[in-house]
Amino acid sequence: VRAVATPDGLLTIDADGTVRRPGQAKPEGGAGAFPMGFRETGVTWDPSRDALLAFGDGDNKVNTTWEFKAGAWKPVKATRKPKARQGPELLHVPGVGVVMVSGWNKKCLDERCVFDGKTWSVGEPLGGVAADRVLFLAHDGPTQALLLGEASEPDHGRKVPSEVVVRRYDGPGQWAPVARLAFQGTGFDLTLLQSGWAFDPATREVVGAGRIQGTGSRGFISAPLGAALDALPRSAAAAVAPAAAPAAAPRAKRSAWYLVQRDEPPGKFWFAERQGSGWTASWGRRGAKPQSKTYTFQSPARATTDLEKTVAGKLAEGYAEAPEGAAVAALASRTAWPMKVSNRAGRPGQDCVHGARGVSVPRCKGCKQDMEVLGLFHAHPERLPLKKAAALALFMCRGACETWRPASGANAVLFVPAKVLKDEQPAIASLGVTYPKAVLEVDREREGLPAVSPGGCKLGGYPTWVQESEPQTCATCQKPMVLAVQLDAGDTGMNFGDVGVGYAFICPDEHEGRFLWQCA
Ligand SMILES: [Zn+2]
Ligand SMILES: [Zn+2]
Repeated sequence: VRAVATPDGLLTIDADGTVRRPGQAKPEGGAGAFPMGFRETGVTWDPSRDALLAFGDGDNKVNTTWEFKAGAWKPVKATRKPKARQGPELLHVPGVGVVMVSGWNKKCLDERCVFDGKTWSVGEPLGGVAADRVLFLAHDGPTQALLLGEASEPDHGRKVPSEVVVRRYDGPGQWAPVARLAFQGTGFDLTLLQSGWAFDPATREVVGAGRIQGTGSRGFISAPLGAALDALPRSAAAAVAPAAAPAAAPRAKRSAWYLVQRDEPPGKFWFAERQGSGWTASWGRRGAKPQSKTYTFQSPARATTDLEKTVAGKLAEGYAEAPEGAAVAALASRTAWPMKVSNRAGRPGQDCVHGARGVSVPRCKGCKQDMEVLGLFHAHPERLPLKKAAALALFMCRGACETWRPASGANAVLFVPAKVLKDEQPAIASLGVTYPKAVLEVDREREGLPAVSPGGCKLGGYPTWVQESEPQTCATCQKPMVLAVQLDAGDTGMNFGDVGVGYAFICPDEHEGRFLWQCA
């Protein structure tokens, strides 16, 4: 027997799949659907489907997802199915989808799977779950807690669990004890093969469904848990969302969501707000004008269900909740143009690295020798939107001067006027560069995100610092300078120390350009 809490009360499921509503003689249906036995199948109420959702069928070779609708169990089309297993536990978590943990297939499967209604994703385990002891997973609305009920005895045989231990998820591997519930001597046959356990979120009770000893008739036993849950001090946000990014604990019946894409591609946001029986989505790239659309439904409940389903889908896509809330939309993002260095000399008019003729080469202030040309980059409305100059030329001393230091005089970033550029010819030793595809970047350092490595060559975007960041300010107007060109020694063979990266900054008003490099 398995027990499942639904908005209309508890349902029990017999070993063959028969779904029953307590107190009603006639079953709801489903008889005979699980010849291998439903006992080892995970099941939960899925409000987004308005149906029971189950995984497996007691055979550790079957990884079918099922739903119980209109009196029958039917397979659900699902992509990327998790491994077949015995004894999984399923739970619908608001805003996340159906979460599956536990189960074993020769050995314990310590993983967390999330079903968004279409696709299963397998992610990091919650940790600390003993697969052979789990009796139920549950979500408590008032405290927003994920709960786990487990048998106090590890022996999964035909024994009566002497106690049901309820724990609250406080983060990976951390399960705070909430209560130990003893059900012995109550006259019920609560052996694990004959009983099912559930948490009823409406009454906040742990419910055991079993048989009354000696009579064979069905019965229930319950123990309240609400006071114990309220009394337990709140932990830090314990999120069960699939994204690795920090996400707030899912909240039931919330009306606003602020999600942001932090990884690839970063910088996109997606917001949703519910008002009455409708909800409005707004989305776009950060720092730009958003798009929006409103969806209306017949009731607030339907709008909520649709919204939660959509949010779960967004989280599965890689969006995470933005700690900044709506303010995240105003955070800056910048387009970067990763650079591909070819093995052929540049053509006139094409951007190139390693030399260009026609531009006047400055002398190093240290050794008084002509510097080498690191590259020539032409003004471009998107990649290099210069206001006055026609190109940007980068230079560096060939000798042992302090080429890494900005304003050392051993390097230079010069704005090249159009009339000078007329005579431009790439040098024999130059290499042409191309820009296959633009990417959106965010200021990872400012947003406390881990730096990405390696740096790579690019125009625009944010500098990927090898060492501590060295932001530059224009000496004339005091405005922050922006990254114009980043060159990676690994891709260009330039001498930026060991695995170094060079950075060319410019004042947005083109008062000056500045070069520096860092190495590992
Ligand atoms: Zn020099
Ligand atoms: Zn300036």
